[in-house]
Amino acid sequence: MMTTSDDENEPDNMTGGEGHVAVDWKLLQKISTIKPQQQKAERDKTIVCTADHNTSKSSAAEVHHDNQLFSLPPKSEDCPTCGLILPQLESGKRYQPCCGKLVCSGCLSEAVLAAAPALPNCPYCKTPAPRTAKEALRRTKKRVDANHYPALVYLGGIYHDGLYGMPRDYKKALQLWMRAGKLGCTKAYNNVGYAYWHGHGVKRNKNKARHYYELAVMGGDVNARCNLAEFEELQGNMNMSLKHHMIAVRGGEDGSLSKIREYYKNGYATKHDYAKALQCYQSYLDEVKSNQRDKATNILGDDFRSY
Ligand SMILES: [Zn+2]
Ligand SMILES: [Zn+2]
Repeated sequence: MMTTSDDENEPDNMTGGEGHVAVDWKLLQKISTIKPQQQKAERDKTIVCTADHNTSKSSAAEVHHDNQLFSLPPKSEDCPTCGLILPQLESGKRYQPCCGKLVCSGCLSEAVLAAAPALPNCPYCKTPAPRTAKEALRRTKKRVDANHYPALVYLGGIYHDGLYGMPRDYKKALQLWMRAGKLGCTKAYNNVGYAYWHGHGVKRNKNKARHYYELAVMGGDVNARCNLAEFEELQGNMNMSLKHHMIAVRGGEDGSLSKIREYYKNGYATKHDYAKALQCYQSYLDEVKSNQRDKATNILGDDFRSY
């Protein structure tokens, strides 16, 4: 059955920035040493995955807007250490304020397990991990001062969630995300959309939320596309919603795969759509899976899950 309530079905999948999940260093120190292994995944598969549904448009401007909205996103960024694409799941990657890189949880877990019970070095630049929250913040703010937009998004997430002993401050979070968005960070615009949707640091405004989700989608953000799909569903625009989900599943959004299955059961998607979605999601998994990432989840738990 299609969900009609905002509360039950909200487009509120916040990216959380570039590796917004903070590392629980104390927990990691307790973990014993195990030699991780690394495995390369196949990288040459590209399956174009869009729904075969058309939506009639009344003007050239709308057609142009939709062309931008439904163009296939660029390929995901690679982990700078292992070279595999970074997982879509936020728990599958971490921002490193030392060098400003996003590294995958597989590589981070390797460093953690090798260094345990001591704190690990950054898997990329080998800088020792910050010993205190104050040091982690100092490194992040130094990058923020240099307008490094992943740092802006990351610090915004810290303010939004009140991490590292900081008081929760939605307005500061929103300011940082807007600044990052203006610098070209599409992920930041997804978080701005989230803030407008929930009224975090700003008056709640669903149209503005949609606007910022769209900006993020046009830049290739998968979380924002999933949010937009949910938004369209709430408006009853099931074809538009399906089209977004079909692209999001290609980028590894498992929530979109569940939605397409639900749409198929309820007659909003065809069997062909669902089969195509399954194929696209499997193709994503083939690219992103590795023994190292599996081991990270098995040993360190869901905080290190990549898929
Ligand atoms: Zn990696
Ligand atoms: Zn580093």
